[in-house]
Amino acid sequence: MAPAGCAAVVKADAYGTGLVEAGPALAAAGCDTFFVAVPSEGIALRTKCPSATIYILNGLAAGQGALYLAHCLRPVLGSLAEIGDWQATLRGDADRGPAALHIDTGMNRLGLSMREFASLMSASPKPVLGFPLALLMSHFVTADNADHPLNGRQIREFGQARALCPEIPASLANSSGIFLTRDAHHDLARPGYALFGGNPTPRGENPMRNVVTLTVPIVQLRIVEKGESVGYDARWTALGRRRIATLSAGYADGYPRGASVTDERRKSAAPIAEAIIAGRRCPFVGRVSMDLITVDVTDVSEEEVRCGDSAVLIGEGLSIDEVGRRADTIGYEILTRLGRRFERIYRR
Ligand SMILES: *Cc1c(COP(=O)(O)O)cnc(C)c1O
Repeated sequence: MAPAGCAAVVKADAYGTGLVEAGPALAAAGCDTFFVAVPSEGIALRTKCPSATIYILNGLAAGQGALYLAHCLRPVLGSLAEIGDWQATLRGDADRGPAALHIDTGMNRLGLSMREFASLMSASPKPVLGFPLALLMSHFVTADNADHPLNGRQIREFGQARALCPEIPASLANSSGIFLTRDAHHDLARPGYALFGGNPTPRGENPMRNVVTLTVPIVQLRIVEKGESVGYDARWTALGRRRIATLSAGYADGYPRGASVTDERRKSAAPIAEAIIAGRRCPFVGRVSMDLITVDVTDVSEEEVRCGDSAVLIGEGLSIDEVGRRADTIGYEILTRLGRRFERIYRR
């Protein structure tokens, strides 16, 4: 079996990193096939990558067939109705519109059922679709849980679907799917998260390098006496004299308010959000507010932390996966919500 090709999933502004930068960088690295979620993302990518193959994962948006054709976007068709709409868009000019078909193997979100697909493939006369079927695809439900029985079931079902049209290229694996088994690879892998540094094997070491670093300035330092509270709603109380640093970032920058550290959370076993300042882990205290975060820097010596210094919120030693866990969410959400106020610096 030849090794599979590798596409790039760059939906949600390339997982928050910036599509117009990430797209061309990936293309320059040799990527010729991209997946985005919606047509507007496809159009933005098309202006930067004129010769790329671009698939729209969310399918054919109602009434937008002409737009897809104008920008040479390929829908991932996920229902018989969408197939009908695409055929109508092409008006018999079959070769104009290569498209992918999504087969549902367990997500129950998008895609034709196995039964619908089987009856489509057995219909006659051939060809039944009226457009080039460029890719057959399905999507894992829980590939990051490597020992979940659904993975094997989905691999088997997708294999059965594929056997009905063995000449058509096939794609199943997202980032985590790539690390399951060779059976999951087929012709084209579709990683997103791992390309941007996320750990596709969350129970083990991250095989990917860190990609995103987020540093924010410390805008004020202050002493808080025992019994005083910090932040909105007075939900965090100092148990002793503490030195607090106030960071210039907040939920308006996409850092989840759910990462707030209240007295209850501090007492619970849940992991607490942290920043790295002068090489040391510093726990968040109080509410994450719209534009500010407060952290306890008592354990960093006074000479090592000054107003204007940087605090690391994401980076080497504080991965997006860990930030997600400590904020009661997943790294995907941390990354895709990175705020528009941050200055972005791209290193080549
Ligand atoms: C988002 C997405 C991917 C990429 O998933 P990652 O877990 O980020 O690698 C692949 N395929 C489909 C259908 C998706 O929606």
